[in-house]
Amino acid sequence: MDMGDLEVVNQDWQNNIEDIFENFKEDISYLYPNNETETFLTAIWNESLEAFDKPREIQVVVDANDKLYISVGTPSFVSFDDQEEQLAGMTLPLKCWIHTHPFGVAFFSATDWRTVHTWQSILGSAIVLGLNEYMAYDMNTKIAKKVYYGVLTEAGPEEPAEEDWESWDYAEAVTEMGEEE
Ligand SMILES: [Zn+2]
Repeated sequence: MDMGDLEVVNQDWQNNIEDIFENFKEDISYLYPNNETETFLTAIWNESLEAFDKPREIQVVVDANDKLYISVGTPSFVSFDDQEEQLAGMTLPLKCWIHTHPFGVAFFSATDWRTVHTWQSILGSAIVLGLNEYMAYDMNTKIAKKVYYGVLTEAGPEEPAEEDWESWDYAEAVTEMGEEE
């Protein structure tokens, strides 16, 4: 992975994530995230957007002993692949693999999905973080939960008429809303 142009703007970014985790770790639930978990996720998200020269993916692995392994990737890619050395120190099974999608949408990409399956036998859960949303995945039951979280101050676009259901696209409708203002 070419990280040559990585610039760290906030030198404390890893400490900030670790401090929040220390405060809340007793109450964190990876599969069905509660407020404490969301506070931790928000800390990761904020550093992902603000700690570097540009928004970059952050990866946080929580091991069986609640030790965090935190790393930063390119704007669009983090993975376990470059981290065999880090993995060597981790206590298995891993509780959760968390990573951010700085472009905003929380879902498991094809690459993410391969990672999830590569580590399936030693991983309990995985969370992808987007803007005001996350998707949490339980490796064991295969249940995924996608949640909107954050302050809501504005209505979305109007619902489509029935004949437009199939062609209607949420992102497009939001863009059109902006254009009408
Ligand atoms: Zn991803």
